[in-house]
Amino acid sequence: MPRLAVRDGRITADPPPGARPVDLGGCCVVPGFNDAHVHFPTWSLGLRQVRLEGVDSRAEAVARVADALPSVAPGGWLRGLGWRDATWVEPPHRAVLDAVAPDVPVALMSRDYHSLWLNSAALSRAGGDLDAPGGVVERDERGEPIGVLRENAAWRFRDLHSLPSLGEMIEASREGLRVAASRGVTAIHDKDGWMGSFEVFQHLHARDELTLRVWQSQPADRLPHLRAVGLRSGFGDDMLRLGYLKLFMDGTLGSATARLLDGSGVELTSRERLEEVVREAAAAGWPVAVHAIGDGANRAALDAFEASAGAWHPLGLRQRIEHAQLLDAAELPRFAEAGVAASVQFSHAPSDRDLADRFWEGHQGAYAYGALLEHGARLANGSDAPVEELDPLKGIVAGVLRTLDERPPWRPEQAVTFEQALHATCIEPAWLARDERRRGTLAPGMLADLVILDRDPAGCPPEELNQVKVLATMVGGSFTFVSDPPFWV
Ligand SMILES: [Zn+2]
Repeated sequence: MPRLAVRDGRITADPPPGARPVDLGGCCVVPGFNDAHVHFPTWSLGLRQVRLEGVDSRAEAVARVADALPSVAPGGWLRGLGWRDATWVEPPHRAVLDAVAPDVPVALMSRDYHSLWLNSAALSRAGGDLDAPGGVVERDERGEPIGVLRENAAWRFRDLHSLPSLGEMIEASREGLRVAASRGVTAIHDKDGWMGSFEVFQHLHARDELTLRVWQSQPADRLPHLRAVGLRSGFGDDMLRLGYLKLFMDGTLGSATARLLDGSGVELTSRERLEEVVREAAAAGWPVAVHAIGDGANRAALDAFEASAGAWHPLGLRQRIEHAQLLDAAELPRFAEAGVAASVQFSHAPSDRDLADRFWEGHQGAYAYGALLEHGARLANGSDAPVEELDPLKGIVAGVLRTLDERPPWRPEQAVTFEQALHATCIEPAWLARDERRRGTLAPGMLADLVILDRDPAGCPPEELNQVKVLATMVGGSFTFVSDPPFWV
């Protein structure tokens, strides 16, 4: 019977004297899950917002907004997220929101976070100042904004007018930490540095409330400030560290703004500009995570990392491309060759399958996780929560099964094995955070970050994978979650 002992927050080969043995029966212990791509405060806030995932029509979305209106505090915003209008007959428009919410400002973020649907009360906050380079303001035939902003225009409006307060983010993240622990999450790579999540985590950490390890992003355009203060990647402690710079090459599949090799889509950062950013970041001690969805954006990003390799490779910086959703076959070996990790989301493949079949018809390299592994790429897995749920087991299952419903697996040749999915959810994210000698596996000397599951997912039939449950979660030797009743009863 295999044994695992914990002492002083670490895994040890032998139980210390007086240790309390626990027989786990048929349960299974795996390394703690590290979600490599989370918008943590945003996801936490979303636990309480109007959710529009799976809403099939504009009318249904408006009805949900109407239902939620009474809960809005006086003077507050009604915020929602998760809509996807690709299959709606009627497109989003401010007038239908105005009909139910004439006074309360309403801001509804799309599922991919690249489009914002506003009512007139919200729009009026901008006083007509809506345009932004790399942004789209949808207008009617008279030139009036219809209440839909995309890309930079959406983000600029949100940043200037509809962001939640620090207090709201802290409060929501407290609840988020509890939910994350119940799902076996022991570490995250956060992407919300731009909206102040580092400050949120610092507040929680100072009160001993931070129950997972954070590798924090900062927007790349803050580099001059970080340099001025002398902050380099890695600053922090065991629980909370500044990690990497984040920027965007293109838009998304759902908003039809992904940059493709045929020239379609939106270019948010050029190949040349990314190369400059990577060089400047390296000189200041920072790796870069760049969002790239389309095959054109991915080629440009890899070109930029390659062209700047002399500046960062000798420093051992752990560069990454976020999403890598559509890849031309020529790019598959380039991740390993360039030493750039593919930070992907297994759960996106089955949930995006219909959109991908439609928008990227005839493209073979969509969500090509199996092929990336075959070509030696480092593959890290995340949820992109709140785009998908912050639930690593669900992500792992999506990577293995490539389906979420009764339909047969989507492009099953790109499926990964359970072991590969676990590797991408534990080991590679730890490597990206320069933690490979401290966590990601259950070897003696490693931090005791682990999850107890009710059965062995590697040994159970595929159709049972969806039923695997987290019984307990441990971070640094302390339980952050124990199911009720506890597993040792
Ligand atoms: Zn994201």
